[in-house]
Amino acid sequence: MSDWNLFVHEEISKCTDCEVCTDVCCTYYATNNRLFSPLARLQMVKKLLNGESLKQEEIRSIYLCTECGRCEQVCPFDIKISDVIADSKKILVQKGLGPLPKHDVIINGILEKRNAVNGDPKKRLDWIPEKYRSSEKFEETPSETLLYLGCLPSYLVKESAAATYELLKEAGVDFMVLKDEFCCGIYPYNAGKLEIAREIFLENIEKFKKLGVKRIIVPCAGCYRCFSKYYPDLLGKTDFEVFHIIQILNDLLKSEKITLRNNRHSFTFHDSCRLGRKAGFYNEPREILEEMGIEIEELTENRENAYCCGSGSGVRSIDKELSLNIGLKILEESKQNTIIATCPFCIFNLRYIAYKTNSDKKLVHISNLVFENLAKYD
Ligand code: SF4
Ligand code: SF4
Repeated sequence: MSDWNLFVHEEISKCTDCEVCTDVCCTYYATNNRLFSPLARLQMVKKLLNGESLKQEEIRSIYLCTECGRCEQVCPFDIKISDVIADSKKILVQKGLGPLPKHDVIINGILEKRNAVNGDPKKRLDWIPEKYRSSEKFEETPSETLLYLGCLPSYLVKESAAATYELLKEAGVDFMVLKDEFCCGIYPYNAGKLEIAREIFLENIEKFKKLGVKRIIVPCAGCYRCFSKYYPDLLGKTDFEVFHIIQILNDLLKSEKITLRNNRHSFTFHDSCRLGRKAGFYNEPREILEEMGIEIEELTENRENAYCCGSGSGVRSIDKELSLNIGLKILEESKQNTIIATCPFCIFNLRYIAYKTNSDKKLVHISNLVFENLAKYD
């Protein structure tokens, strides 16, 4: 029995069917259908382990878990529900029952275009600020620090890539960017396609090693989770450390490498699941906002209980409507017009929801807010 099969067995055996997890699950909340509850998913995984067949709608339900981890916060037995569901996708693939056809379409797109969002590779560098276009020499000016932008910032939330890059430049951080950046591979990993994920991870790791990369900075919560958790889980210890830009900004502020103007506005802050619950970064973004004098309007459910934006783990790619119905709650509950987030995927999905529902809510990446409020730099 593989390690993850054993882990899944052990975790499932702790469940007493108490259903405490049901009410906090974002997919259950959005559908009011028990098929989309954590308990139902655990029962499906149990059937899978016992060799019983699963209906197509059950397999779909497993793939529609955003792996947000909200259910784990309330389980009285600390069952790692989202990890069990994540591992069950690997079992589904092993048994030839997963992923869903749409996953394969996206994965083929990643292998062909080297990004997960069907972006035209020729346009990947369009985000580079005009001011730095001619001086940016990519790998020709090597550095141990790599700013890895990721697919969403490179193609769909470009201003977050530009601001992150410019902030680091203005703060005098020595770093490089890659001319040809391959997707981090989180999508096939989340779909349970470990062999494809391994292929992508290895190509990236080889490149990082060749370039002498010791430190990777990312503006994306998904890339952060992938490099810091999935790479070592699949390939063992890596030679680099991973930082989300909020950690770097925090350090730059504390060491006074950058200082910020007083902003005096009130903004809502949204905790992304992969930086919050999955990595414990609750204070870092709040400290940055407070440093600017911003009054943080907390959502009713925040920090470890934060509500999911609905897009993670490939869910948006297979059911956009479900992602919309999940994330809508964040827009509806935000009293402020502007919502600050640390993950470009949350931003992209919440912007789409705002557009679809004629909401005037604005989504801003924390790098953009900091960049706009830079007062001075050494
Ligand atoms: S991880 Fe999130 S979406 Fe998945 S079962 Fe738990 S609460 Fe529901
Ligand atoms: S809260 Fe925990 S023990 Fe209760 S049904 Fe959910 S997973 Fe099982």
